Amino acid sequence: MKKIIASNFKTNHSRETTREFMEDLNQYLVQKEIKNDVYVFPSATAFDKFDLSENLIVGAQNCYHTKSGSFTGEIGTIHLDEFGIKTILIGHSERRHILGESQKEVALKYNYFKALGYKIIYCFGEPLEVKQAGLTETLGYIWEQFDGIDLSYENLILAYEPVWAIGTGVSATIEDIATIHRKIKKKIDKPLLYGGSVKVCGLQDILEVPNVDGVLVGTASWAVEDFKKMVYIASKMDGSSKIIQCEKESN
Ligand code: PEP
Repeated sequence: MKKIIASNFKTNHSRETTREFMEDLNQYLVQKEIKNDVYVFPSATAFDKFDLSENLIVGAQNCYHTKSGSFTGEIGTIHLDEFGIKTILIGHSERRHILGESQKEVALKYNYFKALGYKIIYCFGEPLEVKQAGLTETLGYIWEQFDGIDLSYENLILAYEPVWAIGTGVSATIEDIATIHRKIKKKIDKPLLYGGSVKVCGLQDILEVPNVDGVLVGTASWAVEDFKKMVYIASKMDGSSKIIQCEKESN
């Protein structure tokens, strides 16, 4: 399976810089003949009619479980339909822990978008105090984040994103990733991404971990040149070709 690479813009990039990013990235995929699935989750205000390769997919970071209605500040599926968006992130740690989405609400959203056939990237992961309590506690916490979630859904991609690694600059260790991904894959046969401070230089090592099918990247993906490097590294992991060596760089 080709490695999946996803970029979460969070609350970054304007409409104009999103367009520049998408056009630059698309041109790169075409030029290098990269066929991996590449997802970009821009802010909703930057949704647009992009002319993109089939494997470059724009998704929504969030959407309320409605077509339209009176939900001030939210968007509904009419706003996604306008741009043909059929992919959504659900359960991201910032929505759970900063914006207060409960597991019940997350599950409700999941089921709504599942019924509409959306591709769902479902995020889960433990906070630091749970990790520090041990592996059993960590796995227990993770299984609770699957409450109400149909894990047999055909359009599901999972993303393990430990809360303490998101946006902190401190990625999980290779051992941590290997352990958690092995445990999850044993029970759930779905593509499984890792997310949490992935950078260009650490990417190859992470993608080589068994049971890692790709990555979801925030901060380090916002500069298009860096994201292109990530996509390139991922594309070269599929064959026997030697992957570019990462030089010392800030990212
Ligand atoms: C994310 O937002 O899903 C994420 C992994 O962010 P970062 O790469 O900045 O840790």
